[in-house]
Amino acid sequence: MSIANNLLNIKSTIPEHVTLVAVSKTKPVSDIMEAYNVGHKIFGENKIQDMVEKYHAMPKDIKWHMIGHVQRNKVKYMASFVSLIHGVDSIKLLEEINKQALKNNRVIDCLIQIKIAKEDSKFGIYPEEALKIIQSQQFSELKNIRVVGFMGMATFTEDNEQIKKEFNLLKSTFDSLKELEIFNFKPETISMGMSGDYKLAIECGSTMVRVGSGIFGARYYN
Ligand SMILES: *Cc1c(COP(=O)(O)O)cnc(C)c1O
Repeated sequence: MSIANNLLNIKSTIPEHVTLVAVSKTKPVSDIMEAYNVGHKIFGENKIQDMVEKYHAMPKDIKWHMIGHVQRNKVKYMASFVSLIHGVDSIKLLEEINKQALKNNRVIDCLIQIKIAKEDSKFGIYPEEALKIIQSQQFSELKNIRVVGFMGMATFTEDNEQIKKEFNLLKSTFDSLKELEIFNFKPETISMGMSGDYKLAIECGSTMVRVGSGIFGARYYN
């Protein structure tokens, strides 16, 4: 099936309150334009350099999401245009995003990545650490960022019960923190679910799914 067909099929199965991020990492501009041309405007990349190149090459009404691990020294390259940064996992990174957002006279939306997988993933933090960050003095001084929710990646496994447990953990983290009243913490987004598990993620409360291969086909790395 074509990229356009894949995209429209997936979109038709997703409820209206769920945002679809089309993960275009490793894919050329021509592929992304196929999705754009049937009306899709939200794309996710996991490397800042690639995202910057595609940003310059493509229509400016696209919303670019950074879904990969972010190195602090590279935030400046995307600060003028990035729409949402999914993988934030430290106060230091938030401070750098804030600094670069201020330089660009804007507020950048971020998600805190929560470690939900059983496997020992390098990225993300535990819910207790996220709470500590959000309630810290340093955080309250960051006027050019806004934490709008949480992101998580489930274990890569066929075991749906395990995946469900991990999605439920992200949902309950969101629910337990959503009442906090902090001016730059406005939780509305739970980013969870990829090509293999987005339906399950939506059943568990996801409001944003990140689908790559299900739309663009398999990725080839060399
Ligand atoms: C690559 C990637 C995805 C999309 O994965 P697919 O299985 O191709 O849908 C989603 N989220 C993150 C963080 C990714 O790096």
